[in-house]
Amino acid sequence: MGNVGGVRVADSSVDLRGRTAIVTGAASGIGRAIAGMLASHGAAVGVCDLHEVGARTVAQEIEAAGGHAIPVRADVSRPDDVEAMVAATAREFGGLDILVNNAGLQFISPVHEFPVDKWNLLVGVMLTGTFLCTRYALPSMITRRWGRVINISSIHGLVASPFKSAYIAAKHGIIGLTRTVALEVGEYNITANAICPSYVRTPLVMGQIAEQSKAHGIPEAEVVQKIMLAPAAVKRLLEPDEIAAFALYLCSEHAAGMTGGVYPIDVGWTAR
Ligand code: NAD
Repeated sequence: MGNVGGVRVADSSVDLRGRTAIVTGAASGIGRAIAGMLASHGAAVGVCDLHEVGARTVAQEIEAAGGHAIPVRADVSRPDDVEAMVAATAREFGGLDILVNNAGLQFISPVHEFPVDKWNLLVGVMLTGTFLCTRYALPSMITRRWGRVINISSIHGLVASPFKSAYIAAKHGIIGLTRTVALEVGEYNITANAICPSYVRTPLVMGQIAEQSKAHGIPEAEVVQKIMLAPAAVKRLLEPDEIAAFALYLCSEHAAGMTGGVYPIDVGWTAR
């Protein structure tokens, strides 16, 4: 840090050494990128996923790259799993500072045919799961008088598209939960924010592209350009690291004043 002609020049790099984090759904896609990003800036990361092997692989990748991570298997929709997952991570790292609620999945069907078990699954994982992880993670952050809760919502937390009722209801719900948590825990220097990405190049989206290509009988590139990116200003998919970089920023001291926020990273998708 220094002064140049009265202008304060600060180091904008993010140092998370000594911080501990849990990232859910971290075996794949956006969660994997966020786990790697936080670890590469010094955080010890609990790589949480339903898929034990995937979580172990990502934790090993982080360790091999010189970071510190442990795999923690949990179904975030199950209170007993979440309580045990948070306790195990806090025990291993000596507490918890950062929670990234990212685990998610999609199911597409008209609302009048939507299978009730699929509704319960999607809302259970994405909305109840976000509540449960927050519920069990906050006490450690409150004790430490510092914390970051980052919830991965979606453009579909802000606007709707047909046939995605459970996903959209859960993602809108996450935004309400984020704002409530922000109001409740601000006094402990804990922030809570939601990130709302448009389509990101991950296994979840690549599966949707393949399905729609089959359903509409058009090439996958056309699905991306003509259907998925029709409302977008910048006609491209996002990369997982673009979401991870903003999650990292939200963990920094520079973002200590940002709470209760809802941040689109959406190539202009929701601008119109
Ligand atoms: P992904 O399918 O690549 O990864 C999701 C991960 O969540 C998987 O590893 C899966 O095993 C895990 N998971 C699913 N159910 C779980 C459960 N019950 N408990 C623990 N883990 C569970 O998906 P992604 O594209 O990386 O999506 C990550 C998050 O980002 C999701 O919440 C998704 O809704 C959101 N999102 C994705 C996009 C996109 O375009 N990819 C856009 C906006 C928001």
